[in-house]
Amino acid sequence: MRFLKGIFALFEGMKMVAIHLFRPAVTVKYPEKRDKFSSRLRGCLAINVDKNGKIDCVGCRSCIRVCPCIDAIKIEAERIDGSVIINKFEIDSGKCILCGNCVFVCPKGVLKMTPEYEMADSDKTVFIRGIDEMSRFEEEEG
Ligand code: SF4
Ligand code: SF4
Repeated sequence: MRFLKGIFALFEGMKMVAIHLFRPAVTVKYPEKRDKFSSRLRGCLAINVDKNGKIDCVGCRSCIRVCPCIDAIKIEAERIDGSVIINKFEIDSGKCILCGNCVFVCPKGVLKMTPEYEMADSDKTVFIRGIDEMSRFEEEEG
């Protein structure tokens, strides 16, 4: 009986192979070819800056509180004469799981997700990115 079941499974497998043999491939030969993804893809995080390269972070740390990954976001801020000075703003994309919590919770819209998804590297230190590496300025429409 087990033998017959094995033969049946073998033919089932061969049937699937035969069906897919004449269908167009659903995969692409990466990296020579790349699939087109939605612009809403939750890829690499970036920081919104104004045209002077300034970040509008108020140092509330809400992003850190909602982040499920320990130490993925590091922010050091201080208040001087009523203004918030950001001394350190780093995101470790090696720890980030791209959940988007930090983007949704930020009251100032500092963080955003980009469609960039090619983040692999053998050097772990490149995953730690600061304001300079993550800054994106977008001209407001209208
Ligand atoms: S996207 Fe998620 S995991 Fe990544 S830094 Fe933001 S809250 Fe943390
Ligand atoms: S939630 Fe936004 S404003 Fe608050 S610390 Fe994080 S990046 Fe800055």
